[in-house]
Amino acid sequence: MNGTILIVEDEQKLAELLRDYLLQAGFSVVMMFDGRDVVPWVREQRPALVLLDLMLPGMDGMELCKQIRACSNVPIIMETARVEEIDRLLGLELGADDYICKPFSPREVVARVRAVLRRASGAGSPVENGLVLDAERYHASLNGHDLDLTAVEFRLLHYLAHHPGRIYNRQQLMDQIYPDERVVSDRTIDSHIKKLRRKIELVDPAVQLIHSVYGVGYKYDVSDVAEGDAG
Ligand code: CA
Repeated sequence: MNGTILIVEDEQKLAELLRDYLLQAGFSVVMMFDGRDVVPWVREQRPALVLLDLMLPGMDGMELCKQIRACSNVPIIMETARVEEIDRLLGLELGADDYICKPFSPREVVARVRAVLRRASGAGSPVENGLVLDAERYHASLNGHDLDLTAVEFRLLHYLAHHPGRIYNRQQLMDQIYPDERVVSDRTIDSHIKKLRRKIELVDPAVQLIHSVYGVGYKYDVSDVAEGDAG
């Protein structure tokens, strides 16, 4: 079972072409042509991944991406013909996991879908260091011990753990954990990270999962041994 891919694409021929390739690759596929139907469906049906066109009737793909992110961690691949949008898409202002430029070959899309799913499956399930993240219940445990996280701490850890090794600045993390665009200061993130680390340390002082990157922000890394990483 490869799971269900939701294709949100108003060019019907293109959507059908993608559907055929994804079906052939063993996925189930649902197609939607109008952005307005998407969010409630994603919330109910929990697809494995969303392929999202940027230009849509009803609702812009960027807005849609934000709204999906506000209620779900489903991997999202954006399709765009506008090269100048790529930074924004991946800058995680929006929370897309990857993008693909139009025109593309359906084969390329299938490869990208597989790669993103592979990456995403690393978290949400047991990670090699004994961290278990249950996004349904906002529950995190390390080596079988409850980490007892607040909702915000859970979201931070969950988000960072989904993208191991990737460095995020404070603004990007704030956008992720406060999707309602509440205005919070940079220090808020530092304070949440500090508490999160302390809770991890309480369970296992030898494990360091969240690393400061001087002058930039934070990253999740299990392999990296901390160096001068006080915080
Ligand atoms: Ca379109």
